[in-house]
Amino acid sequence: MPTLFQDKGSLAKWLAAIFLLSTLLVVVLDLAGTRQQGESEARNQAAGLSQLLEERLSSGLRETNLILKSASDSNLVQMLLNKHMLSLDQQQRIDLLLQGKLRQMPQLKQIDILDSACYVLYSTQHNNPGSQLKTDYCRWFHRNGNQDGSFTSTRQDHGQDGIVLVQKLLNQDDEAVGMVVGILDRHFFQTEVAKLPVGRFGEILVLDQRQVLQASWPAQNSHSEQPLNELQSTDVLERHDNYLQFRASSILDQEIRLYSSRLMEGFPFRVVVGIAERDFTRAYHDKATLAILAWLFTAALTLITLRSHLASIRQNRLLSASAARIRESEELARLTLDTAPVALILVATQTMRILRANAPARDMLQIPPAPLRHDRQPALLDLPLHLEPVNEWLRNGEAVANRETELQREDQTRFWAIVSVELMPSRETPAALIALYDISQRKALENELEEKNRLLNEMAITDPLTRLCNRRHADQTLREELQRCERYSQPMSVAVFDIDHFKQFNDRFGHQAGDNVLLAVANALIDCTRSMDVCARIGGEEFLVIFPCTRLRDAEKVMARVQQVLAGTVFPFTDEKVTFSGGITDWRPGDNPSSMLSRADKLLYEAKMAGRDLMLSDGNPE
Ligand code: GH3
Ligand code: MG
Ligand code: MG
Repeated sequence: MPTLFQDKGSLAKWLAAIFLLSTLLVVVLDLAGTRQQGESEARNQAAGLSQLLEERLSSGLRETNLILKSASDSNLVQMLLNKHMLSLDQQQRIDLLLQGKLRQMPQLKQIDILDSACYVLYSTQHNNPGSQLKTDYCRWFHRNGNQDGSFTSTRQDHGQDGIVLVQKLLNQDDEAVGMVVGILDRHFFQTEVAKLPVGRFGEILVLDQRQVLQASWPAQNSHSEQPLNELQSTDVLERHDNYLQFRASSILDQEIRLYSSRLMEGFPFRVVVGIAERDFTRAYHDKATLAILAWLFTAALTLITLRSHLASIRQNRLLSASAARIRESEELARLTLDTAPVALILVATQTMRILRANAPARDMLQIPPAPLRHDRQPALLDLPLHLEPVNEWLRNGEAVANRETELQREDQTRFWAIVSVELMPSRETPAALIALYDISQRKALENELEEKNRLLNEMAITDPLTRLCNRRHADQTLREELQRCERYSQPMSVAVFDIDHFKQFNDRFGHQAGDNVLLAVANALIDCTRSMDVCARIGGEEFLVIFPCTRLRDAEKVMARVQQVLAGTVFPFTDEKVTFSGGITDWRPGDNPSSMLSRADKLLYEAKMAGRDLMLSDGNPE
């Protein structure tokens, strides 16, 4: 049935892909969380800093107001308002008083006492008493009449550059009769602003009621009276009461920041703290870079691992396929070995030990069958090989093909076989395959046939009674010897003889006795002639002796010895001696068998005529 994962390889690929995607998802989610967290921290930081700044500035302004209030409560100020003219002593005392107030607040650079018509009754600057001012706080004073209150604004007027803090002066009937005006140095804001840690690219602005910049970080080189209205009209994140949080691009340096803008309570100022996106996203970017690098590293590791895993799967698959092929070919080889009609033996040539042997080989060499392995296959044998001369061939590294050999087993028994030895030196264990085909039976039949042929041949050339050569063989031999004489001019002699009165033996003592005489003659011939001489019975009691390479005189001597031996032979049936008569002749150039034999026959006849028991010769004795 087809499945999603066809094999281990595709399962590994799917797992790797799922792993990489899930780790990527975790990284992305974590980064998104980090970014959100960074933004929320930046918002908190901006809100906190803006609150801190607002509190610091407010407390400074409130402190200044308190100083002014304490100045306004003094009797000297009341006297100044009522009398307009002060004695020198009183003037010195009021100087002392107000200078003391200025010292309480180092940023407070000037205190003026004004009447209800905005005439300057007294100034710590001494430069403009008596002049009538036409300022926004004068207008405020008249608008609000006798109502109690204070007023704060910023001024860029000549002589009154700074933050103006105004307290109404009341008489005993609580009627507003004048003002005490404090001019606070603009640096008061700048100093406070500079103390706030707002990040490398952060921004802090303090704006007055006209949206004019009063202090900033980074500090502006020149003071501008231009209002910065644009900051308000941007991406608002949070808004309530006097508080506004928004994302905007700064109109001063175009940096994108998260701003917290806060109106100061009781004072016409707005503090704006901006945390640069660059600052709070730097950690996020660092983390994102690290996370992406880590993920890429993990991905690379995963891919490398996957690749090596896939390679090992492929290798395992190839290995198991080739193992199966090896098993199959082993099985085939084993089957071939076992079913082959010839005996096959696998021998380790270095150790001369039998590794495998099929059934015919086991029968032939009396080897026990191999034990079975756990997989039911026969294990390797480990038996010594004793089979000469095969052992010798193996020792010499000699390969043999279809050689008929008589082999000898360990127990010295022998058998014939057609042997082939195939050497396999390049195997892990150098080995040789020996094939033996038993031909012992065929060899036995051949030997038998050979023996019979030999007997037949012998019979064909042998006289059955005397075991001497027969006439046919003697004729053949004589022809060959004559050819040799012709070719090499060597001497050769022949003797033909016939037993004397043989018929009488037969007649008187019987045929068997006659046969015994014939045997006695044959024995005498065998005893007296050399092995190269050919003795033959060529008729009933007629014999021919061929003496190769023999001169006539030597042949005469041999025949004389034969006569002598026969004469000494005693027969059981008679005391008479057996004699024979014949002729001896030697080869002469141009001779043929019949010419030689007829010469010998003629001499035989002459010997018979001459009284028997006589061997005549006709040749030149020399
Ligand atoms: P001569 O001295 O003149 O030769 O007289 P002979 O009797 O020997 O000659 P003859 O030729 O008359 O006789 C030969 C005899 O030899 C005749 C035959 O019976 C006998 N004879 C031939 N062959 C054999 C044989 O194989 N065995 C026996 N016992 N006798 C044989
Ligand atoms: Mg005869
Ligand atoms: Mg005879």
